[in-house]
Amino acid sequence: MKYHCVVILFCLLTKGWAQFNPQPNEVTEKFFPDAFELEEVTPGLQKSKGFTTYNELMDFLNGLKIKFPELVRIEYIGTSKKGKDIPIIYINNARQSGKKIRVFLQGGLHGDEPASTESVLYLLYDFLHNDENAELREHIELAVIPMANIDGYVRLRRNNAENLDLNRDQTKLMAHESVALKKAFTDFNPHVALDFHEFRPFRRDFIKMGNFGVTGAFDLMFLYSGNLNVPQALRKHTNTNFLEPTRKILDSLELSHFDYVTSAKHFGEIQFNRGSHNARSSATNYALLNTVAALIEVRGVGIGRTSFKRRVFSGYIVGKSFLQQAVIHKESTFSVLEETEANNEITVLLKRDVYQGELEVIDLETNEKISLNVTYRDALRSSPQLIRPRPKAYYISCDERDLVVKLRTLGLMVDTIKIDEEVEIERYLVTNRTTEGQKYEKMTLQSVQVELETTKLSIPAGSFIVYTNQENANILTEVMEPEAPNSFVSFGLIKTRVNQYLPIYRLP
Ligand SMILES: [Zn+2]
Repeated sequence: MKYHCVVILFCLLTKGWAQFNPQPNEVTEKFFPDAFELEEVTPGLQKSKGFTTYNELMDFLNGLKIKFPELVRIEYIGTSKKGKDIPIIYINNARQSGKKIRVFLQGGLHGDEPASTESVLYLLYDFLHNDENAELREHIELAVIPMANIDGYVRLRRNNAENLDLNRDQTKLMAHESVALKKAFTDFNPHVALDFHEFRPFRRDFIKMGNFGVTGAFDLMFLYSGNLNVPQALRKHTNTNFLEPTRKILDSLELSHFDYVTSAKHFGEIQFNRGSHNARSSATNYALLNTVAALIEVRGVGIGRTSFKRRVFSGYIVGKSFLQQAVIHKESTFSVLEETEANNEITVLLKRDVYQGELEVIDLETNEKISLNVTYRDALRSSPQLIRPRPKAYYISCDERDLVVKLRTLGLMVDTIKIDEEVEIERYLVTNRTTEGQKYEKMTLQSVQVELETTKLSIPAGSFIVYTNQENANILTEVMEPEAPNSFVSFGLIKTRVNQYLPIYRLP
């Protein structure tokens, strides 16, 4: 057992990590046996080495279109940075009348998470071929992006060709692919969205735990939003009517699962972040765009093809359950999403609840599951730290056209002011500003403190206005309020100095 830990440490230190599978066979055999029988219908399942290539993906999708010409439509949402067309598959039974529930599925946003794409392909195949899915095909309109980050995927790299993480880019929208992906999402305007990922079960932090290191114990983890600007009814509906039945199905199949946790250093101590509230990542971003949304993480990054069938099966089971719940809870989903009762207060900053709790891991010394007492920082149990009244609208200076493009990509309607207007507004005076020494995702982050001043101002024609009484408006808090962690100001898209006013205003 000692040997394995030395090897893992060696691989981490020498960056031999990508080539070496750090998982001892006894862990695979005892906890993650590849005993799941899947039909070998997808390209990645049909081979024993490597994963689905871009050409194999296109052949597979075109094959489905030839076989089901009335149901399947393939379009391209744009190109990857290196020029590959990004396919999206729409499945809609046009003969069926009545309102359908729109479900959006995405795989391969991170290029080193191969079972994500494969699960989506398997699910797609099953959706079309399996007789037991007749009812699903009747009620669901499906949009599927199986390989969102093609340049990353073909090189088994997490980031895109610009070295940007596409799941940290969903408010600033700087990466080539991010704009196309977000536009496809908001054009389709789904009721339900599921983003497929894999997590790294051998983390650097895990080496120091137990006597000889530990590894993640779960087949998969669910990431769903704890963001307080996502209406509580929507958060509750997501957990109760989509995740809870899915957990039960996983239990019956003896696939282990947990709410998403990841280790993070906090003042030198290893703690565990649970859930998510960040609008820069898919699950929260989608939920703020008025969607029942979750991200799943299957245990798979960095272990090659180990337990590959099991991983694909895990993703497929969750995806299939989401499709089933979408049909079962179709009407209640419509009503939860149509509830426009907007909260009068918005949460600009929130605080995660911090507490001690148990975390199950696999001890590499004994090859047993053990329970660690850890510190959780829990986004699913968060409380507001800074709240403001919800404005009626935000005004944006005519010089900030780039922001308006991003807002429109996020599915918001932004109007242009036709004639000069004299309005009482609230403007932000920057009273303090700090920047991070290091860049984050190529951006110089800044955090600001502001004072709100009410004043009468002449808003010139050509300025922009975005109202908060529209469907996707909950995302506005996250991008427009300057102190919000993923706002245009925080990401440095709006340059500012102390004692200056920001070029955005609130209409109270
Ligand atoms: Zn991922």
